[in-house]
Amino acid sequence: MQIHDLIGIGFGPSNIALAITLEEKKQYGFNVDAFFIEKQPGFAWHANMMLDNTHMQISFLKDLATMRNPSSYFTFINYLHQKQRLQDFINLKTFFPSRHEFNDYLAWAASHFNDRCAYGEEVLEVLPEKRNDEVALLRVCSRDSDGAIHERLTRNLIVGVGGMPSIPECFLSLKGDPRVFHSSAYLREIAQHGSAKKIAVVGAGQSAAEIFMDLHNRPGAPHVDLIMRARAIKPSDDSPFVNEIFNADFTEFVFSRSDEDRVALLDEFWHTNYAAPDLVLIEQIFNVFYQQRVTGNERHRFLRRHEVVSANPLPEGIQLVLRDLNAGREHVATYDAIVLATGYNRDHHKSLLKPLSPYMGEFAVDRQYCLQSTPNFRPAIFLQGACESSHGLSDTLLSVTAVRTDEIGQALLGVVNQPGATQTDNPIRAVAGR
Ligand SMILES: Cc1cc2nc3c(=O)[nH]c(=O)nc-3n(C[C@H](O)[C@H](O)[C@H](O)COP(=O)(O)OP(=O)(O)OC[C@H]3O[C@@H](n4cnc5c(N)ncnc54)[C@H](O)[C@@H]3O)c2cc1C
Repeated sequence: MQIHDLIGIGFGPSNIALAITLEEKKQYGFNVDAFFIEKQPGFAWHANMMLDNTHMQISFLKDLATMRNPSSYFTFINYLHQKQRLQDFINLKTFFPSRHEFNDYLAWAASHFNDRCAYGEEVLEVLPEKRNDEVALLRVCSRDSDGAIHERLTRNLIVGVGGMPSIPECFLSLKGDPRVFHSSAYLREIAQHGSAKKIAVVGAGQSAAEIFMDLHNRPGAPHVDLIMRARAIKPSDDSPFVNEIFNADFTEFVFSRSDEDRVALLDEFWHTNYAAPDLVLIEQIFNVFYQQRVTGNERHRFLRRHEVVSANPLPEGIQLVLRDLNAGREHVATYDAIVLATGYNRDHHKSLLKPLSPYMGEFAVDRQYCLQSTPNFRPAIFLQGACESSHGLSDTLLSVTAVRTDEIGQALLGVVNQPGATQTDNPIRAVAGR
């Protein structure tokens, strides 16, 4: 069986950016045989949240390559040039392309690596391949859409699987009930609920706000309850001094702090990324509720300071017991559909790597995003997008993607793995250092 230098799990922006970095290192004589496995049938960036009129929340200059190599072929500007839209894009006078366009850019970049990515395969687990007392290689097991199991061997691994839906505990027992779904499945699921008259949206972030407006504008004119614990929907703060926390060099600062300082930093700036929709969107929602007061048509309700206590599946709908945190009272409401815009967990790597856990300790990473392991474990395993607690709030975003892949690429290649160096069992790991 072929042994790859590197297998990447997931082929979203993080691992596409890494593929680009490694591709560009070829001109300096570095050649890493990298292969990626992606569970979707083709490239798609948050396809079920690809709503009309949504825009990037980050400058296009923080694309897959510019911050690392502004002269890369894979910059957003070169994509525009290739698609013959550069002049027209300039006339838009924006740093924030539509999500549709950024998805098209990402798909264009990904298409250059079709021969190095197996689409439609979900990685199930990663197993250790032992030689005597050492783990020398990793066996990556995946399942394709026909149910066939595939196994591949690699010397090193990079996990870039993004987030998994975070489902509040009171909804866990409703798993499998098609009337309750997470925002990550929104467009697919809402298409099945065209006749829904009453819908609840739980959450206070960008996705909750976008979904509320999307439902408001749907032809079926459903009644929507927007339910959140917060007293007010607060906007994301993207003012320039605050935005400095997303600069690439801030990662070094965060990583070098004590655990206590890091927790305080994450806490101080938590609202820059979480439960903080764009101001324009908040103003649109406010306007919807204001116009309701003008017309007297109370189609939607803003249930702020409300908590979902329990959810009960009834034949006529999902009944929520809601606690009004201001009044201290509980009341019930029944919905045809419930959208959970309740965010994502970033610890899926732990279940994929569970068979390796005896070698992994606490799953802590070093500055180059490499998991620390026992001395008898030779492969290097890197994480992308799962290191917020050690590397800062930019970790789950696109902000540092390009620069991060350079840091990981450097660690992969190592300082002594110069062009023409003799190949050892694992040339990459042998020089990666910890
Ligand atoms: C709706 C939405 C809008 C966003 N907008 C912005 C924005 O404007 N700016 C910004 O900076 N960030 C934004 N984000 C944050 C987002 O995390 C990043 O934009 C980006 O998607 C991170 O890339 P990634 O590759 O790390 O993760 P993902 O994009 O989530 O990609 C991970 C990939 O791994 C695949 N995968 C998962 N598990 C497996 C498995 N077991 N086997 C094989 N493949 C697997 C998934 O199918 C997916 O393709 C947004 C997030 C969402 C949900």
